[in-house]
Amino acid sequence: MRIPLLDFGRMASEEKGRLEEAFRRVLASGQFILGEEVAAFERECADFLGVAHAIGVSSGTDALLLALQALGIGPGDEVICPSYTFFATAGSIARTGAKPVFADSCPGCWNLSPQEVKRKVTEKTKAVIPVHLFGQPAAMTSLLAVGREAGLAVIEDAAQAFGARSGDQRAGGRGLLGCFSFFPTKNLGALGDAGLVTTQDGALADRIRALRVHGSRVKYRHEWIGGNFRIDALQAAFLRARLPGVEAALAARRRNVQIYEEAFLASGIAARSPDSCRCEGQEEPVCPSSPGQVLLPRDWRGEHTWNQYVIRYPPDRDGLRRFLAEARVQTEVYYPLPLHLQPCFLVGERKGEELPVAELFARESLALPIFPGLSADEIHRVVELVSRFARQRAKET
Ligand SMILES: *Cc1c(COP(=O)(O)O)cnc(C)c1O
Repeated sequence: MRIPLLDFGRMASEEKGRLEEAFRRVLASGQFILGEEVAAFERECADFLGVAHAIGVSSGTDALLLALQALGIGPGDEVICPSYTFFATAGSIARTGAKPVFADSCPGCWNLSPQEVKRKVTEKTKAVIPVHLFGQPAAMTSLLAVGREAGLAVIEDAAQAFGARSGDQRAGGRGLLGCFSFFPTKNLGALGDAGLVTTQDGALADRIRALRVHGSRVKYRHEWIGGNFRIDALQAAFLRARLPGVEAALAARRRNVQIYEEAFLASGIAARSPDSCRCEGQEEPVCPSSPGQVLLPRDWRGEHTWNQYVIRYPPDRDGLRRFLAEARVQTEVYYPLPLHLQPCFLVGERKGEELPVAELFARESLALPIFPGLSADEIHRVVELVSRFARQRAKET
């Protein structure tokens, strides 16, 4: 039995039918870039997410770049973001000419720590980009308060959290701007690259729409220097076909987490992570200790969407991963090298910078299959294999 991280072949035939119909509709329309299909997609997303404006763009990376460009961020500016995230969060900052300033993560919820952000603010700081990592909403109430106090724009990187709720809002609707990715592995996946920027601010929305087409609101008149950040009509149509199924897909992810939890806790070799979330209080983040157990992720606030199910295995993450691969269970390490240690950022005063929580997660984390089409039998098999490895390992030491 091979257990993959993701398998599109398991999509319900009804959903495949809707995708085929979307393809035929776009082919018949003859409009392949922007146009009616994209406008309808943007309206449906804005409704679903509870925001005034949603702008479809070419990718999640481009959504971040556009958000920063729309705020006029560039050389001389600093933008704070987590080190423990996908590269695009910081890459987009650097591409504007601004400096990404890395802050450590909360040992409980794995998200950007508000106390750490506060510590990194200088007079050059213009914005902060919290990431709703693995689908868990970041501590937006605290982060927005820190942002307000320091006069920073808060841009949500909601690439992994389409549909997540925090407070009475969906992720992406609380900051000044929200950025989404529809890369196929995300909660709502296109059949290719696509992204979205959201905002409640009409003037910013106007500017992003212009930046998406070379900074032009009137054809051949360019007020800003934008780029080609357009979304294909085909991807918009595919996403419209899949959007009605997104709540059911998120429910399936949550059900899978429950099956994992019950099986892991019954196995006797796993425990919920003992590290508590420190984002909402005044407590300082401390680097977690590393017991010998399999540590399970917890849901700290709002509605986690479980884009990834990431355990920690302090004794020997890489050994466990190899063992699972031999048993034909596909896993992934998100992320093996924190951004503050990436060669492209490791220059000048950065050398020697230490972010202990990010570095610990990079050593210990392992993502197990969690996609909606996974069966309970497959989850039990994964837990059985992880337990077997951990028990053997405990006996040896
Ligand atoms: C996927 C992802 C992105 C980038 O999205 P793309 O559509 O692949 O460009 C940005 N940030 C985070 C946190 C992501 O997971």
